[in-house]
Amino acid sequence: MAEITLDQARQEVAALRKQLDEWADAYYTKDAPVVEDNVYDQKYNRLLEVEQEFPELVTPDSITQRVGGQVDSEFTKVAHPIPMLSMGDVFSKDELKEFDQRMQKLVGHPVTYNVELKIDGLSLSLEYENGRLKRASTRGNGSVGEDVTANARYISDIPQTLPEPLTTEVRGECYMGKKAFAKLNQEREEAGQSVFANPRNAAAGSLRQLDAKVTKKRDLSTFIYTWVNPPAEITSQHQAIDAMHKLGFHTNETGRKLASLDEIFAFIDEYTAKRDSLTYGIDGIVLKVDDLNLQQQLGNTVKVPRWEIAYKFPPEEQETVVHEIVWTV
Ligand code: NAD
Repeated sequence: MAEITLDQARQEVAALRKQLDEWADAYYTKDAPVVEDNVYDQKYNRLLEVEQEFPELVTPDSITQRVGGQVDSEFTKVAHPIPMLSMGDVFSKDELKEFDQRMQKLVGHPVTYNVELKIDGLSLSLEYENGRLKRASTRGNGSVGEDVTANARYISDIPQTLPEPLTTEVRGECYMGKKAFAKLNQEREEAGQSVFANPRNAAAGSLRQLDAKVTKKRDLSTFIYTWVNPPAEITSQHQAIDAMHKLGFHTNETGRKLASLDEIFAFIDEYTAKRDSLTYGIDGIVLKVDDLNLQQQLGNTVKVPRWEIAYKFPPEEQETVVHEIVWTV
């Protein structure tokens, strides 16, 4: 990084935070981004870089130290005793290699990963009591989310009851498939309404509706990938996914247990090529330390689990120019 003084860094950090907070509000709270993700990511990474160079400027309210979303005051709030975190990301295979080296150093031996697709949607928590869906909530700011139970009852792949009377919580991604997204935008265009910038925003805008009947009309789906409190016999992420699938959750079948970087890179190449042909949007690949005990041991930072990382795909050619979109519900 080119040398700057502490004063210059202070000014730059303030300007970056102000800009990023505005963009994050548009993206997370209004579900209507005003810039492309890669523009946001570049500024975010610059803020990280300056904060790393000048750690005395890091404050808890910086976007680098907290989960990005907010809670819309019109929704009932839901506390997440186990926070719903964000995820660290990298943009190259070299950085993935560094992540793997870091994991090996921390645990003292080679690590096996469950490698999954990074689904382009929004996080959703599902809580069950005695096998019945009790509550669904968004990630919100990580500690407090929004109650979207009524909306989730209209998502057909979410089980309302489980085959066993479990009291448990699972988490995953709520998304809108590409076909449903194209159809919705076409209908909106024909009705003279503004279109959604991308499937992620369409999913968020469709789930986070005070009137659940609007959600009912939108074709939302889920991929469930986290069992927050699995039974003791489940000891790996891979097993957890299989077990949740057996309970009736919609899980993504492409996940693979991989131990070598060569295999992981081949998986990345495979899905970089297959990405366009998938029926849902993905924006990267997630590496998760497969062993749940090791995950516990590695723990979290204030913002992200240490045991997982996202490899983000390079930005695609955009069909929709985000900054021209005016949001209406
Ligand atoms: P993120 O969306 O990059 O990654 C974390 C999320 O990935 C998790 O919360 C989860 O919902 C999701 N996910 C998808 N598949 C998963 C899987 N298989 N396993 C686990 N999690 C999975 O992180 P974030 O903090 O929500 O958002 C940051 C990103 O959002 C930025 O990198 C940026 O691209 C985008 N953003 C864009 C703007 C904008 O203005 N365009 C503003 C804010 C944020």
